[in-house]
Amino acid sequence: YDLRNEDLKDLQELGQGNGGSVKKVEHTPTNTIMAKKASLIVLIDAKPSIRKQILRELHIMHDCHSPYIISFYGAFLSDPNICICMEYMDKGSLDGIYKKIGAIDIDVVSKVALAVLEGLTYLYDVHRIIHRDIKPSNILCNSQGQIKICDFGVSGELINSIADTFVGTSTYMSPERIQGAQYTVKSDVWSLGISLIELALGRFPFADSEPDDSDLSDFEGTLSPGTMGLPPKKDQDKTSKKDRRKSRGVSLQGGGMMMSILELLQHIVNEPAPRLTPEGRFPQAAEDFVDSCLLKDPDARRTPKDLLASPF
Ligand code: ATP
Ligand code: MG
Repeated sequence: YDLRNEDLKDLQELGQGNGGSVKKVEHTPTNTIMAKKASLIVLIDAKPSIRKQILRELHIMHDCHSPYIISFYGAFLSDPNICICMEYMDKGSLDGIYKKIGAIDIDVVSKVALAVLEGLTYLYDVHRIIHRDIKPSNILCNSQGQIKICDFGVSGELINSIADTFVGTSTYMSPERIQGAQYTVKSDVWSLGISLIELALGRFPFADSEPDDSDLSDFEGTLSPGTMGLPPKKDQDKTSKKDRRKSRGVSLQGGGMMMSILELLQHIVNEPAPRLTPEGRFPQAAEDFVDSCLLKDPDARRTPKDLLASPF
């Protein structure tokens, strides 16, 4: 496809992320339905040479062919955005699905795990690409029952631009990543483990059992430097603090106060990893799989390819 904005007819808004918006569009010359993602992030101060470099790097996506990876139709500049056109998935992302229907059956969660591991293995073995942003909103489904991953870090320049613009922080980030260590495929395995617990429990895992308490997933993604200041913690007395830590997880809202993102990052680094709980509710193979994704030591954690052999 030789994509131009004039040839794309907007059909429906599919969602908003931190970096821009995603729309269902029709490429009118060919009647092809696509998802168009317009990203503002890069444009804040990217030079024209950098933008062109990003476009060149995005072309690697033309060579990504796997049933577990969203197909790429093309990318173009449409000032002030960079637009990426990709395969449209008619059932949307897994975060949207579980927020609508509740916790996802563990047998389906195992299919999700399989698709993500296959996708990660393909990206790494064939293209030496690390995904860097595994989370339920980047795992998409269609009515054929296919599960595919999207939004991977194919462009080094794009990653640099985003890093220059934002403090790249995500609540799906592995302990080693939070501590500034090298990103590896194993960091994606951690993010997969967190995502699987979220799907199986129907709530973000770093939270108490009350579903209402849990929505730090709104916090996911990047934070601008301006939001890095701690929220006020006026009524966080000893009792509420103890209360907040009463279960294995940690409440994000103690006495009506949202746990700060920095506390959460500290928690990920210092506390035991979350688990599929309560014990016995899920098959042993599922518990074991999630535990092995969430080994805090990246040297002990296995790669996506190794994990494909696990019983789960
Ligand atoms: P973040 O910006 O933190 O990464 P996000 O992944 O939700 O969050 P976007 O990548 O901009 O943000 O996507 C927004 C929403 O658009 C997604 O949650 C998903 O529901 C929908 N979406 C994205 N790509 C597609 C696609 N190819 N087909 C169908 N829906 C899509
Ligand atoms: Mg996304």
